[in-house]
Amino acid sequence: MATPAPCEAPRPNLVGLGRAALAAELAGFGAQPFRTGQLWHWIYHRGVTDFAAMTSLSKAFREELATHYTLHRPAVSRALTSIDGTRKWLLRFPDGQEVETVHIPEEDRGTLCVSSQVGCTLSCTFCHTGTQRLVRNLTAAEIVAQIMIARDALGEWPSPRADRQVTNIVLMGMGEPLFNYDNVAEALRIVMDPEGLSISRRKITLSTAGVVPAIRRCGAELAVNLAVSLHAVRDDIRDRLVPLNRKYPIAELLDACRSYPGASNARRITFEYIMLKGINDSPAEARELVRLLAGIPAKVNLIPFNPWPGAPFECSSEPAIAAFSDIVFAAGYSAPVRTPRGRDILAACGQLKSASVRPRKSGHAALPQPDLAADRFA
Ligand code: SAH
Repeated sequence: MATPAPCEAPRPNLVGLGRAALAAELAGFGAQPFRTGQLWHWIYHRGVTDFAAMTSLSKAFREELATHYTLHRPAVSRALTSIDGTRKWLLRFPDGQEVETVHIPEEDRGTLCVSSQVGCTLSCTFCHTGTQRLVRNLTAAEIVAQIMIARDALGEWPSPRADRQVTNIVLMGMGEPLFNYDNVAEALRIVMDPEGLSISRRKITLSTAGVVPAIRRCGAELAVNLAVSLHAVRDDIRDRLVPLNRKYPIAELLDACRSYPGASNARRITFEYIMLKGINDSPAEARELVRLLAGIPAKVNLIPFNPWPGAPFECSSEPAIAAFSDIVFAAGYSAPVRTPRGRDILAACGQLKSASVRPRKSGHAALPQPDLAADRFA
């Protein structure tokens, strides 16, 4: 065994390490290789937060581990539950930065919406998170911790096989996951490991605004489902809504989708399309969308715009959304209108923003005002 570290040295956290990193850490500590599997089981299958609970290990070894390492979870600085059952956790990391994680329960599944960055650099004009300046990428450990905190709160340890409340993961929270590719990939490998959190790649969807070069890598290396925030069918409009379009315009983005490894009729790419009144919601645009998607195994998610304080857009009318959906549906694509969830706690798409971060100069109210999140479709 290694000699104990001097007490002023911070103890490294084992939670959030991948298998190779955990093995290397334990080897450096003088532990036998089989310890990696044991620790993995306790950390990711049982979810323990205290070495003392690792009862298959000798008491002396547990104590030794506890002097050198921690099993740290970020603090939950705020937890909210919507009237529709959606839950939102604001997590605070030791450096004071915060992100949000949202759980959306449905009849046949439960989806956890996970953040990949503190803030976001994309500045999509309809997105509340985009009004927050990027502070930093999340580490793999901070991404994995979001799932572990949800499992803690939902009482889901040991990782259940049946009747899970966290069945699906969507990387649709704060940030652009493909701008933090390495950490997202490391986190997803931990999440997908069948002996731990055990969420299959078929139940994981990564959403991107269209970082074209990283899309292929994501398909080849992670093979998770892909969602693309398209939102417009013409470059001039998409340039305004999703400024990243100026770098990777629609044609290039759709080419990357066309060759996305693993996409098939059984595993379609989801195209997210936010419904903004008078901006992108005409029947002609619905027909153009159908034309653009030709040759791509696709489904379309129509997202009614969720308002936030100071937002420069309005949500399309219900009949406009229905007409748009009908046109896409008649062309053979599934085109559900996504029911906004958790609007009363600002947990719906595009409403995530940690209040602790200063808004930009041109900015908007720093604190979300739940009363402004009235449901237009009530
Ligand atoms: N950066 C990634 C991940 C964030 S996903 C991406 O752009 O895909 C967040 C999803 O919510 C995206 O589809 C985004 O376009 C959508 N969204 C953002 N703001 C919204 C709002 N105010 N109302 C409804 N949907 C919104």
